[in-house]
Amino acid sequence: MKTKRNLIIIQVLLYSIIAYIIAGAFVFPKALNANNQDTVIYYIPHQDDELLTFGASIVDDVEKDRNVVVVLMTDGSATNVGKELGLTPKEVTKYRNREFDNSLKQLGVKEKNVIKMNFKDGELTQEEVHQTIESFSGVYPHSVHKGHTYHDEHSDHQAVGLALKAIRDDQLIEDVRFYIRRGESVPEEMSIVSVSQEGYEKIKKASYYYREDEDKDIIGIGYKSVPGSFDRMLESPINFYHH
Ligand SMILES: [Zn+2]
Repeated sequence: MKTKRNLIIIQVLLYSIIAYIIAGAFVFPKALNANNQDTVIYYIPHQDDELLTFGASIVDDVEKDRNVVVVLMTDGSATNVGKELGLTPKEVTKYRNREFDNSLKQLGVKEKNVIKMNFKDGELTQEEVHQTIESFSGVYPHSVHKGHTYHDEHSDHQAVGLALKAIRDDQLIEDVRFYIRRGESVPEEMSIVSVSQEGYEKIKKASYYYREDEDKDIIGIGYKSVPGSFDRMLESPINFYHH
């Protein structure tokens, strides 16, 4: 467990160094300071969750000029569609990551702010999420942290929610928002994030990267796994969360 913990810390440190180099050694400390209050970090278990459960919220944060950081937690390799298509787990990850990257680009998230942790899909542990949140909250103190609600029945989603709740309850992070999948209800007071017309267009364009399109060499694993979720999202793209 200790080796795993060290590995996560090294991984996050590496990303920080890369971000530091990209931002430029001279401007970065100032930029980091200026952005701290406005950074929002999303912990996304699988490629497609960012659009299905958080799309309106991401667009809203981007429109409000916040520094949006998106952390993809798993490799997404466990989807049944991959096996049906005869793809290896590595190929599934490659194609799903491409759908994810293109989706986030349409939503307006900067490429340098998209980080992939590559934990095993379907086996995400609270410990892995815990270490990830701790590391990112170290890089971005006073940021807002967003993930699925701990009431979510999917084990990877729930691991994110439970880890966020535990760290918040320990007062190591302050501002946490727990997102609820469309159609689910939770015993909490729910808030809504609506979306502008312009934002909806971005969401619609992002969804194209999850739908099969031979001309564009898109396999469309997203739509193939959960077509109903995409349809319902486009019918009503608002997001729900609780504190
Ligand atoms: Zn998911």
